[in-house]
Parts: sequence; C-alpha cells; structure tokens
Amino acid sequence: MDDCIFCKIVKGEIPSAKVYEDDTVYAFLDIAPLAWGHTLVIPKKHVERITEMSAEEAAALMSVVPKLAKAVLGATGAKGLNVLQNNGAVSGQAVDHLHVHLIPRDANDGLGYRWNAKQYPEGAMDKVHRKLTDALG
Ligand code: AMP
Ligand code: ZN
Repeated sequence: MDDCIFCKIVKGEIPSAKVYEDDTVYAFLDIAPLAWGHTLVIPKKHVERITEMSAEEAAALMSVVPKLAKAVLGATGAKGLNVLQNNGAVSGQAVDHLHVHLIPRDANDGLGYRWNAKQYPEGAMDKVHRKLTDALG
C-alpha cells in the first residue's frame, strides 16, 4: 500500500520510535498517546482488519503482545493496560493498517472507559447465539 502511513513506517520512509521488530511484526510509540508509553503493534504486511488475517498471521502478531505489554508496564510504572484493536471507522479506526494499541492505565488517569452494558430482551440472546454458532458452522 503506497499511501499507507504505517507501511511507510515499516519501510523506514517516515520516522517512528521503534520499540520492537521481528520478521513479521513492528512496534512503535503512538505519536499522539493516550498515556506515556502508549504503543502500537502492527503486522509488517498491510492488512486493514483482523478479519483479513490468517490464523498464523494473527498468532504471530499476538505472540509478541505479552512481552511488549510487560515492557510497557515496566517502563511506565503503570498499574494496568488496555489492549485495544479497532476494526472499521465505526469502531474508531483512523489508520487503515491493522494495529493493536497497548495503553498504560493508572487510577485517576482521566481516560475513563464507556461500557454501556445493555440487557437482551426476551429471546434475543438465543437468536444471536444461534446465528453466531451457525456462522461458525
Ligand atoms: P486508530 O484510531 O485505532 O486507527 O489509531 C490510530 C493511531 O495511530 C492513533 O492513536 C494515532 O495517534 C496513531 N498514529 C497516527 N500516525 C502516527 C505516526 N506517524 N506515528 C505514530 N503513531 C501514529
Ligand atoms: Zn499499511
């Protein structure tokens, strides 16, 4: 993808604060962090959404997340961490190259989190459960 900003970062065409690299994965500091140490983990290969990845590609990406998360926590002293991966503009995805956010969290960090839990009306949970299990074959 010639015009993809994260592909350009992987190729070294635009600068980044790299924290990790292997054959298939690249990680760097988010330039507009939600907290100090906010890190992005990306596949080197351009894919937009997690639904486009093979199981092997997703496994390779996620396999480095625990050690990067530990490093982010150790370096920042944060007490916790959100792992966030947005798919599609409606979910908040602004850069169309798949990325996993590692966001350090602390009590009273002001970030908050909206978790507007709903209740299934009668029968709706069964219906969506059936559709989902059908979709999975
Ligand atoms: P999302 O909203 O999930 O697509 O997140 C995209 C993230 O990429 C945002 O948090 C941006 O701050 C970050 N970002 C965009 N451009 C760059 C860049 N050149 N270097 C580092 N982070 C970037
Ligand atoms: Zn890309």
